[in-house]
Parts: sequence; structure tokens; C-alpha cells
Amino acid sequence: MITRTRIAPSPTGYMHIGTLRTVMFDYFLARQSGGQFVVRIEDTDQARLVEGAVESLLKTFKKMNIDYDEGPILLAEGTLSEKGDVGPYTQSKRLDLYRPYADRLLADGNAYVCFCTSERLVEMRAAQVAAKQNPKYDRRCANLSLEEVKARQAAGEKFVIRMRIPEGESKFVDAIRGEISFNNADVDDQVIIKSDGFASYHLAVVVDDYLMKISHVLRGEEWISSTPKQIILCTMLDIPMPIYAHVPLILNPDKTKLSKRKGDVSVESYLSKGYLPEALINFISTLGYNPKADQEIYERAELVELFDLSKVSRAGAVMNIEKLDWMNHQYLMRLTQSELVAAVQPFTTLDLSTATLQRALMIERERVSKLTEFADKLGAYVGLVAYDPAILTWKKATAEDSALQLKNVTEVIGQLDDATFAKVALLEAAIKEYISSNGLQNGNVLWPLRVALSGLEKSASPYELLWALGKEESVARLQQALAKI
Ligand code: GLU
Repeated sequence: MITRTRIAPSPTGYMHIGTLRTVMFDYFLARQSGGQFVVRIEDTDQARLVEGAVESLLKTFKKMNIDYDEGPILLAEGTLSEKGDVGPYTQSKRLDLYRPYADRLLADGNAYVCFCTSERLVEMRAAQVAAKQNPKYDRRCANLSLEEVKARQAAGEKFVIRMRIPEGESKFVDAIRGEISFNNADVDDQVIIKSDGFASYHLAVVVDDYLMKISHVLRGEEWISSTPKQIILCTMLDIPMPIYAHVPLILNPDKTKLSKRKGDVSVESYLSKGYLPEALINFISTLGYNPKADQEIYERAELVELFDLSKVSRAGAVMNIEKLDWMNHQYLMRLTQSELVAAVQPFTTLDLSTATLQRALMIERERVSKLTEFADKLGAYVGLVAYDPAILTWKKATAEDSALQLKNVTEVIGQLDDATFAKVALLEAAIKEYISSNGLQNGNVLWPLRVALSGLEKSASPYELLWALGKEESVARLQQALAKI
């Protein structure tokens, strides 16, 4: 079977972090089997449309480096195109395709025209709720005669088309949750064509998944209750049912649903906080699911190869930010020098030579978990910060001793050659050799040296600082310290 997966977002503004997880699962399944991953924009609910939402969604795909095989693509700012040949992939451009299916349902008696006004429906629902009944259309229009329907339509009365849910039970096997069944008596006669003539989500999704030959429908668990309506539509229309998998929600640590009000839910907000796309993907795709018990960091190709829907936990997945921070750090450590510089660039406007910036980043990444944390750390490399000369003296030493040690070590450093300055390890060996051959204590030399180079009580090691700053700048900083102490 050729696996064809799809993500079907409604363009309401941004990509939710939970959607990213579903996107990744779609992507893994499609890539694993040599199938296709489709992006389809579900914009039939005109009231919920947000200007620019499709563009921003597609930009997120790009930033996350997630390629899809069919669907709308962004050519340039404001220019959308499409790739794939079963498109268009935007439901508002496919409206003509849905109507024949609604007509077939009507002709077969599986759907009916309903003239109930929204006021009447509101009253009906209120009465049902007051009587502690499940709110559901009461079928007042379910058995109108064809003549009456025609006459009322001809008179210009507004109407919708509803599906007629049969008696019995609806069952499906969810690829994550196993068998799920519903009593059809609990399922509402869903509107399939709205009063504006647009197909509703339920009809459009079933028709599109069929026409686009989608084999696996992955979506958030909030859609489980929609599934009986959709499988009933498949049966009525005599079209194959896709495999469904409802992906568990993402939760806050207090187990409440991750919602906009409680913090960040958009993929973009995580990117702007300084998480790397690959780290975010690794994190979100292994939340509540770990392909291997003893591994946390996975290359994307490995995630594709190992992905197994049946191993995804049914329980909600808790968004553990400490773990994300840890993982992001692991990914920062794996970047090459130039990748690191490119990743940090949008987060800092500091004026540093490329060589110093590269070296400073390689050093400071040991101590950060997010790209946003670099800006603060880099300050010390741009220029010496104003510091209190008292901090130049190590806690077990005197100011006189520190001055002496600084003076001597400055001379030693001034004599080191360029080759030594090319590597942290060589600098370390040279300074350590000087300390031991002169019978000195590490603290007496290294503390004032490090503080003089950084201007900070806490910083990278003196060897790393020497390497990043280079000989000239290092000696200049040491001389400034000597003048102060
Ligand atoms: N358009 C729905 C959404 O906004 C898609 C649900 C589905 O995948 O069937 O998430």
C-alpha cells in the first residue's frame, strides 16, 4: 500500500506545537514507505479565516525544514503556488467538487434539507441542556416531503443539508488507541452543506481524503468524536475508509491542556526563544513515544526509519521544557562553527569580528541551552566590561600576589607564538607548564588571569578566553588589569 498522509490545517494564524507533532508523524510515515505527505488548507469556515495565515504556516514548514510532496507552496512574499496534481489543495478552491457528493447523499435518502433557523436551534439546544439531554438536532425537518422542500427553497427560505445518521453502532480501529466504537444514537445529524452553500468540514474532509487518496488520517485527539460522522459518510458514499490515528494532546506539566492562555503554543514562539528546528523536531516527535529505550537524540533519518504509530502512547504528552532545553543544548553542541554562527546571527547584533565570534560561540555554547542566551555571554568578548579591581584577587591570595602573578603571566603570554594561540589545548598546556615549572599554585595565577581577560567573576576558562580573544587583545586586557590592581 502506498502511504499518503496529510495535514489539514485551518488557517487560523500559526502552527500549534501539537500540530507539529502530527506533521512529523505524517512525514515519518510517508517517508518511511516512499509515499507522499500532503498539505491541504481547510478554509471552508470563512468566519475563522485569518489574513496571512496560510503564508505564515508555510513559512514555518520552511523554517523547520519539513518538505511535503503536494500542497500550496510559497514562491515569494505573498505569492502562493501549488505542487502536486490532485490539487487545488485549498478547500475554498474546491467547492464545486463537494456538491455532487451531497446530492448523492440526498438522492439516496442519506441526507435531508433542513430549514430550521439558528434561533430555533439555539432554543432547541437550551431546552435539551435544561432537560439534561445530549444536545442534538431533533430532526424536525428529517421527513419533509420533496414538494415542501422544493416550495420552501423556491420561496427563498434559507436551508442547510444534514446527513441522516442511521441507527446502530460505528466502529473503527485507531492505529494508536485500538478499537473505538460509538452508539449512533449519540451522533448528531451533522450539517454537510451550510446555508452559505459551502461544504462543512465533515463532508469536505471525507471527500478530499478520498479524492487525494489519503491512506492515513493523523490528527489531534480532539477529532475523535468527529470520526463516527466521517466513517458513516464513507459508508454512505461507498468510498474506502482511511486508517485513523488520533494523536494525544500535549499537556502542561500540571496535566492541563497546553493552551494559548497558559503560554506559548506556536512553533514560531519556540523558534524565537532560540530553540533549533532540529532539536524541536527531535523533542516533539519523541514526546510520549521513544523509538528506543536507551536513546534520546535521533537524526531525522533515524526517526523516519524507526517510527511506529502503534508505539505512540495514548496518554497526553507533557511538555517538559527542561528536557527541551537539555536537548537543544545537545544540538547546539553538534553544530559546526559556521552553522553555529548562522544560527546565532538573528539573535545578536553585537559587533564582533567573525573569528572572535566563531571562537566565542564555540566556547560559550558549553554553558547555554538556547540561542537567545548567547547575546549576554558575548558581551565580554566585544569589549572589556567595567569591573571592580577587587575581583582580580583570588580568595586565598593577596592583591600584591595577584599583581605579581598577572605581571609574570602577561610576559609569558606575550611570548607565546601564533601556533599556540590556534588551539585551546596548546594554550592550556603552555600556561600549566609555566605554573608547574615555577612551583606556583593554579588559583594564584589562573584566577586573576581569567578575571582580567573576562572582567567577570564567572566566565569561560582563561585558556578559552585567550583563544577567543587572540594574543593582542588578551595582552591589552591584562595590561589594563595591571594598571588597575
Ligand atoms: N481542519 C481540521 C483542523 O483544523 C483538520 C482535522 C482533520 O485533520 O481532519 O485541524
